[in-house]
Amino acid sequence: MARKQINGFVIRGFSMGESSRVITLFTGENGKLKCVAKGARKSATKKGGALELFSLVRCNIYLKENVELGTIGSVDMIDDYSAIAADPAKFGFASAFCEILDKSTSIDQPIIELFDLTAEFFSHIMKSPGQNSAPLFWAAFIKTLAILGYQPRLYECVVCGKKNEDRAAFYDSQKGGIICSDDVLEHVQYGKLSKTSLRILQDFLSRPLSEIVNIECTQKNLGEIEQFILSFADYHSGLRRNLKSFKFLSQLK
Ligand SMILES: [Zn+2]
Repeated sequence: MARKQINGFVIRGFSMGESSRVITLFTGENGKLKCVAKGARKSATKKGGALELFSLVRCNIYLKENVELGTIGSVDMIDDYSAIAADPAKFGFASAFCEILDKSTSIDQPIIELFDLTAEFFSHIMKSPGQNSAPLFWAAFIKTLAILGYQPRLYECVVCGKKNEDRAAFYDSQKGGIICSDDVLEHVQYGKLSKTSLRILQDFLSRPLSEIVNIECTQKNLGEIEQFILSFADYHSGLRRNLKSFKFLSQLK
């Protein structure tokens, strides 16, 4: 049996039996890990409290060869993000981010950049006002897609490469980004980003999350950006529009 000390975010958890929980941890160095935490069912215990959703914990994990499910030994809280759960919007967006991590990463696939982004996202969503949760989430989502290797082309036409001169644009998710008016085919339904929505989306991708909260963004802009990201993610990364947490988000509107 191998013992590992890991730092990871709790991205999923459910009860098992009378006293245990099955926890999914997202770590920087070991990717995603699924473990049983015995005696963690009650959040009043130290172990149970530390293993609440979104927490960053340091723990000892025991892994048996050829067994996917490890066992969690001792647990220490590094960063407590439990305050996120007190606000429905923050909770909804942070849960959706966890579901994206869970669906798009695998065991033993280290992605340090995504681990760092998760820390930054949880920290900003916790300390920012609730109305900033949506822009923070969509910015973190598009950054996640880029980290996973699916970077949309937002500055030039995906067909001819012509630079977009600061104007509204159609996009073709299958082709991977925006498309100029010369290459738009008749009888094809394209999505559309207004000039402002496209500029905001470019900022979401290129600027750090600390600057996202200062970007002015209307509900209409966010709606267009949401449609772009969902359609792009659905086609390229296989993250479907019908994720469980997305349904919760649509109920919040
Ligand atoms: Zn073109």
